[in-house]
Amino acid sequence: MISQSFEYTAPKSLDEALGLLAQGAKPLAGGMSLIPMMKLRLTAPDRLVDLRRLKDLNYIREESNGIHIGATTTHQDVASSPLLRGKCPLMAETASHIGDPQVRNMGTIGGSVAHADPSADYPAALQALEAKVALRSTKGDRIVSASDFFVDTFTTALEPGEIVREVVVPIDDSGVGVSYQKLVQPASGFAIVGIAVRVRKTGGKISMARIGVTGLANSSYRASAAEKALEGKSGSAAEIQEAAALVAQGVDANADLHASADYRRHLATVYAARAITAALARIA
Ligand code: FAD
Repeated sequence: MISQSFEYTAPKSLDEALGLLAQGAKPLAGGMSLIPMMKLRLTAPDRLVDLRRLKDLNYIREESNGIHIGATTTHQDVASSPLLRGKCPLMAETASHIGDPQVRNMGTIGGSVAHADPSADYPAALQALEAKVALRSTKGDRIVSASDFFVDTFTTALEPGEIVREVVVPIDDSGVGVSYQKLVQPASGFAIVGIAVRVRKTGGKISMARIGVTGLANSSYRASAAEKALEGKSGSAAEIQEAAALVAQGVDANADLHASADYRRHLATVYAARAITAALARIA
């Protein structure tokens, strides 16, 4: 299908873009989700503002409070960044699981988090990393934690006229082990269930556990009960199974033609056990 006609603007500066967005225009980034939705007439914006040409949103850099990833950074650049691979490997690993090479070369981190597909990969990692999402509009800047940013299916904390400017992730030292494990929906590459784990051991015991879940429910979330079950334990196979069994606890699981709610819950337990095991094995 062909989309409804629309005006297209490629602003030269971020301020110009924000001015147009304040007047009701819609941001366009990689177009990997927005363009198909427009072609299917699920959305019909009158005016698109192209953010991908703005050089000042495309960066990955280390600052004192973490690694800052500009909104128009592609999934491929996140996956292949030496900085992220060395200091926040969960981000690089997660990005490498997104879609296929074409999608990774066009799609952006800002577009993915703003779209908030309940089966997208980044949200699991951002929850486990306790990442911050930096937003900007003509009214100014604000920073929202990942757990507050993802609200519901295709729903975030973004206000009208506001964009995702960057995502800030922590710098992890070699005492932290991470893993992202996902059951792929083979036609699209999206996660039927995806589990991101970040663990630290101190004196032979797990002193920190963070678990982000995507694909299971309407929105990504932190599996707090499973995290608590791991903390203070040595990480034996039995302890991992006990914690993994709590990952879907109290969650209203999604059902679709790919997986029933019960099967998704079962998958979450299986993939959580795999991700915890792999993350613990990676602690240097
Ligand atoms: P766009 O499609 O341009 O925009 C998406 C939405 O975000 C629009 O509403 C747009 O207005 C808004 N937006 C864009 N940038 C901003 C910003 N900076 N601030 C505020 N709003 C903004 N994703 C996965 O996670 N895992 C997968 O396995 C996966 N497989 C895919 C397979 C295929 C075949 C396709 C087509 C997509 C797949 N995706 C997958 C989605 C992909 O990651 C998209 O890149 C992503 O969802 C949207 O990013 P984008 O840059 O293309 O944004």
